[in-house]
Amino acid sequence: MTTPPLPPCTNCGQPMRRRSEPNDGRRLYQARGMCASCYEVRRRRASRTLRRTQATDAEREQRRAAGKAAAVEARRQRLLALATPAPIEPDWRERAACLEAGPYAFADPDHTDAVKAMCSSCPVARSCLEAAMQEEHRQPMAYRAYMRGGLTTAERTSLDRIRRHRKDDAA
Ligand code: SF4
Ligand SMILES: [Zn+2]
Repeated sequence: MTTPPLPPCTNCGQPMRRRSEPNDGRRLYQARGMCASCYEVRRRRASRTLRRTQATDAEREQRRAAGKAAAVEARRQRLLALATPAPIEPDWRERAACLEAGPYAFADPDHTDAVKAMCSSCPVARSCLEAAMQEEHRQPMAYRAYMRGGLTTAERTSLDRIRRHRKDDAA
């Protein structure tokens, strides 16, 4: 009983032979319907592509980590710039940019960016922040609410900690 001949290589179209058949000039069958040389070319190309993808993944991860570190550092610098308490202007409440907006502008967490923008152009932002810092001094973050003076509750908690450490250092 003779086994039927192999179909030609699906890649190069050359006739192929099995390993058990004598070498009569036909290409050796390797795998996936391809001759040995076509299969090898495919395999190398695939591993090159894989290496390239892995490299881009690593780069992307590196960029993401660098971006996160930069954001953390920028936040730290922003808070450090506020480490020294400033005086509170007596009439600051009357000049507050948020007087018109009303309390609901603050309650909705989705409005944080909008509130941030409002606070950043508020003429009495520093007084507002200092008033909040005095009220909330040594309180846990859960005690704090809303953005005040352009800082979120988490940022004010960090700033309070920074100020406390500064005092401890000075003492
Ligand atoms: S800084 Fe923001 S929260 Fe404070 S008074 Fe100004 S607008 Fe209102
Ligand atoms: Zn081939």
